Amino acid sequence: TGYSRPVALRISVVGTGYLGAVHAACMADLGHTVVAIDVDPAKVEALAAGRAPIFEPGLDELLERALATGRLTFTSDYAAAAGADVHFICVGTPQRRGENAADTSYVFAAAESLAPHLGASTLVVGKSTVPVGTAARVLERLRRGAPAGDGVRLAWNPEFLREGFAIEDTVAPDRFVYGVDGDTADADVALLDQVYAAPLATGTPRLVTDFATAELVKVSANAFLATKISFINAMAEVCEAAGADVVALAEAIGHDDRIGHKFLGAGLGFGGGCLPKDIRAFMARAGELGADQALTFLREVDAINLRRRSRMVDLARAECGGTLIGKKVAVLGAAFKPNSDDIRDSPALDVARAAHLAGATVTVHDPKALPVARRVHPDMSYADTIEAACEGADVVLHLTEWKDYRDIDPAALKAVVSSPHIIDGRNALDPARWRGAGWTYRALGRPHPV
Ligand code: NAD
Repeated sequence: TGYSRPVALRISVVGTGYLGAVHAACMADLGHTVVAIDVDPAKVEALAAGRAPIFEPGLDELLERALATGRLTFTSDYAAAAGADVHFICVGTPQRRGENAADTSYVFAAAESLAPHLGASTLVVGKSTVPVGTAARVLERLRRGAPAGDGVRLAWNPEFLREGFAIEDTVAPDRFVYGVDGDTADADVALLDQVYAAPLATGTPRLVTDFATAELVKVSANAFLATKISFINAMAEVCEAAGADVVALAEAIGHDDRIGHKFLGAGLGFGGGCLPKDIRAFMARAGELGADQALTFLREVDAINLRRRSRMVDLARAECGGTLIGKKVAVLGAAFKPNSDDIRDSPALDVARAAHLAGATVTVHDPKALPVARRVHPDMSYADTIEAACEGADVVLHLTEWKDYRDIDPAALKAVVSSPHIIDGRNALDPARWRGAGWTYRALGRPHPV
């Protein structure tokens, strides 16, 4: 195939959040020797003990396996990065408070901390999602801070993993994108090919671009996905107005393979630590570049997405007889999506908080995200079981499509609630089953037989 033989490399991974912890463990599992660095000592301690600080399917087992080989270590000490062949930057790039733009300060801080430990001709690889133009500035910063100066090289290798499938997406991604620059570009590509030798050997496409294109590939992919979700949710709004069924509509249009069924599920919309902040940062960056007109549609994408949350609260109010004051609302789901405990910009928690602010007594359940939700939003009430959350409820809101909720026996749950009203915010439950068991079932974008 022309790719190099598998070679075990020494790798450092900076930032051990959803991306970095998985990346570090997977790189060790591929045979490399990995030191992972984070400024959060609690995270480092947990990871070093084999406990993932986040819930990601398979991660605990993978950590245990990788730690047992001795090839994976965690530390807060940047000096441990010295001597690595490749350094991955996986730190966060959240939305700046009160602005749309991304906060890239963690990326620059990581580069600054890493620089003094970079030997002659080492490759730093950015994986964080950044505004276009960041890589070039990071390279400047690295070269200014490193003893090796211009010997330091940089590649931008954006990450496309999906939480809930992070491990398989890391070791078997749809494609690799390498943004490279300068005289050493060929050598940098060859080195990255060694890092990813195993997945490349299975035929994973690998695209080599300049820095700017690589940075843009990531945010444009997310912009497209967000647009697809908001497209179908816009259709859901029209279906609601017209008395039509968006689920049937999505199925029908999805048979056209130019459209496809994926990412066409109408419901409460997208959330999490990526899509919302990435489309906003993309708009902000395009504005700085004088190309803001190109992305004004993303403002609509964002607005449609947020309107679904208000619609959900309106439906809950309607089911409670016109007011939420003093009503008991059960919320099924806190994570922004199933198979994750990530509650960043979670539509479910947003709806739960809105109902709480509207005067309801809200009790939230989630199979995995309760510990983090309790910590971040201590003002809300939580229950460890579905039954306890639904005890005496006037309405049940299904907001995160965990399999646990599809498996609920509607007849059994009916005995627990005060009145059997459910609103399916994810169009994931079987309306016939719930109605058959005596529930009033309503959903986003679907007709409501009375
Ligand atoms: P996260 O908040 O879970 O993790 C970031 C980690 O970086 C934290 O553990 C933090 O303590 C650490 N950190 C911050 N500053 C540091 C520093 N100077 N030195 C060392 N460590 C530092 O974020 P995440 O979800 O892992 O996202 C990381 C990046 O990857 C973001 O740019 C994100 O957009 C991108 N990304 C995330 C996903 C995903 O699904 N989570 C997917 C693709 C890309």
